[in-house]
Amino acid sequence: MNAILKGVLATILLVFFSCGKEKNNTTGTHESEEKHWSYSGETSPEHWAELEKNSDCSGQSQSPVNILDGKTVKDEGERGSLDFYYSPQTILNKVRNNGHTIQFDFELGDSIAYNKVNFNLVQIHFHEPSEHLVNGVRYPIEIHLVHQSKQQDYTVVSVLGVEGEDCETIENMESYLPLKKGEEKEIHKSLDLSSIFPEKKSYYFYGGSLTTPPCSENVQWVIFKDPVKVSLEEVLKLRDNMPFENFRNEQALNGRKVYLHEM
Ligand SMILES: [Zn+2]
Repeated sequence: MNAILKGVLATILLVFFSCGKEKNNTTGTHESEEKHWSYSGETSPEHWAELEKNSDCSGQSQSPVNILDGKTVKDEGERGSLDFYYSPQTILNKVRNNGHTIQFDFELGDSIAYNKVNFNLVQIHFHEPSEHLVNGVRYPIEIHLVHQSKQQDYTVVSVLGVEGEDCETIENMESYLPLKKGEEKEIHKSLDLSSIFPEKKSYYFYGGSLTTPPCSENVQWVIFKDPVKVSLEEVLKLRDNMPFENFRNEQALNGRKVYLHEM
């Protein structure tokens, strides 16, 4: 074989090899997009642990859980202390439909002290129906107020909603909807969150995880025992902007205790 022929052959092989490689890459990217976690079908919560290899989704301290009143431990006040430092002037930065939920992002300002550690309110999002169960009951809606500490740990304050009259705070939040999947809106206006909480402030608390991948187990959960009233129209409006039934199934407690702090 002469030098020129060898050169041509090498070029042809190189082209074939390159195309093959490129094709594989494209397929790979496509596959990883297709296999992104979701709430239904082959990428539903039951498959998160296998889909998200580096996640904690198969861990032993996962959320949500079913809270059974008969099994909660009464908090005698030495743990689970909770203080709110919320202002009626909190600035709502933006709202987005991230494909899993409707999420409202806040500017730093509102915070809570949980067990004397400060956590800043970073975002609020919704699940329809609820993720946590109380005595086996799934509520029409669950609101997650996500707070983060300097150490990047979370305290999520959860409010369950039952059907009733309008909730003013949710009404205000919904005035920025509808939003299509992937769409976001800048807001930069203040929002008073006071009507999002129940009147009676007794709460359950336990140690768990994020309820979406990576399911990190650095989350303290605080769940108000009393639900708030939310109108059917408000629930339906949120539902129209989120994936169908965006909740994760109940996780085993594996010996964890759920405490009740009565107010
Ligand atoms: Zn959530």
